[in-house]
Amino acid sequence: MNFSNRITELLNIRYPIIQAGMVWCSGWRLAAAVSGAGGLGIIGAGSMYPDVLREHIRKCRAALPLQTTFAVNVPMLYPDIDKHMAIIMEEQVPVVFTSAGNPATWTGTLKAAGIRVVHVVSSVKFAQKAEQAGVDAVVAEGFEAGGHNGREETTTFCLIPMVRQAIQIPLIAAGGITNGAGMLAAFALGAEGVQMGTRFAASEESSAHPAFKARVIGVKEGETELVLKQLAPVRLIKNEFYQQVKRAELRGATAEELRTLLGRGRAKKGIFEGDMTEGELEIGQIAALIDSIKPAAQIVDEIWQEFIQELNRLRQLPV
Ligand code: NDP
Ligand code: NDP
Repeated sequence: MNFSNRITELLNIRYPIIQAGMVWCSGWRLAAAVSGAGGLGIIGAGSMYPDVLREHIRKCRAALPLQTTFAVNVPMLYPDIDKHMAIIMEEQVPVVFTSAGNPATWTGTLKAAGIRVVHVVSSVKFAQKAEQAGVDAVVAEGFEAGGHNGREETTTFCLIPMVRQAIQIPLIAAGGITNGAGMLAAFALGAEGVQMGTRFAASEESSAHPAFKARVIGVKEGETELVLKQLAPVRLIKNEFYQQVKRAELRGATAEELRTLLGRGRAKKGIFEGDMTEGELEIGQIAALIDSIKPAAQIVDEIWQEFIQELNRLRQLPV
């Protein structure tokens, strides 16, 4: 029997399993692998110059059967956002996930071009703002998530039911989800789909450097932390670069000093070039539960099978 809910219908996908847009990890290979397996694959535009983004959109489409849905994630902090959005509309990308900015800025333009829009938030207030801006669905991402994150530190377990109460449109949960049990928990709290980054960062098709993937599957509980709150809060693996940031923050460094310490291209250095010492290693807390690099299609398939298994297990509870 085919599963169907508001998320699978909106996105025209088989399973309500979404691979997050992730700088330096989610190029066309990963997005095509996830969409090809029945989930939603997302090209992460945050680390792509405009011509690179166009290349990835074309390669993703060419790798998939006609009409298969894929998406592009555009962080609104991105410097060349006008160019990115123009390319997305020219190339008729079916779905855009916007993040880290005001959803009112682009939603109307994208929707007028026939594109479905999903916005990523980390608080109830921004979820309501996204709904008012006319987005088709919201991703609510908790404090556990890797990379850029909210300031309020609201965990997924708290955020999802609160956002569920506050909005009517379809809701996707993110942050700390990596298996079928996590997916089922998110559904119990009111989500209709899940978005996962960390699990797919450690997939075979992820464009991250092999040294980064190896580090991710080696992460133990307690080895990531949200830092750089004065700039844009980001969850990092505790390496030498993190220690430098931590020491600076403890001695009360100003935002300007932190910006100088961060420099340029730290995420690329760590995630894409594999510098495990000086690079910015963005990953979620749930990395501690991941111990192998797998093909993305296998990840989608296993999570869906586990979701059904867990659902059946709970049905056996003696109530
Ligand atoms: P291709 O298989 O067509 O080619 C790989 C390209 O990536 C080569 O040009 C290679 O440069 C370059 N490359 C490989 N490793 C590194 C690295 N550690 N640092 C810098 N460049 C590297 O790639 P794709 O079709 O997968 O990708 C097309 C383009 O998109 C490439 O330019 C790629 O770098 C970029 N990309 C960007 C991502 C992002 O998040 N910004 C994610 C994935 C790809 P060389 O010829 O010198 O070996
Ligand atoms: P930096 O300012 O430190 O460096 C810019 C990096 O982005 C460089 O590695 C550069 O590649 C690459 N880049 C891609 N397109 C452009 C462009 N048009 N202009 C300048 N640089 C570009 O930025 P970060 O690495 O911290 O972040 C890069 C982008 O990713 C930002 O837009 C940021 O908002 C977004 N981001 C979003 C995250 C999220 O979770 N939503 C997480 C992390 C970053 P090169 O070295 O090849 O020049």
